[in-house]
Amino acid sequence: MDCNTLVEYLSDYISHNLESDLTAEAEAHLRTCQNCRVVLDSTQKMILLYREQGKQSIPAQRRETLFNQLSDAFSKRA
Ligand SMILES: [Zn+2]
Repeated sequence: MDCNTLVEYLSDYISHNLESDLTAEAEAHLRTCQNCRVVLDSTQKMILLYREQGKQSIPAQRRETLFNQLSDAFSKRA
């Protein structure tokens, strides 16, 4: 799995909706990729923040913006 794929699956990974083989691939990538660990960490913190504010989930539009930003960041690095 590469960084772009991980970002694509990240929200499913965090909410444990990912198929088990993809979860294993994501975890294998996270073990070797510092960038994605940072992304995972900041995404989880953002989700936590929304939950503290009493929101059940991140608004779809906000989430889309975040993932676009992440994809941009990754494509610039590549
Ligand atoms: Zn990565």
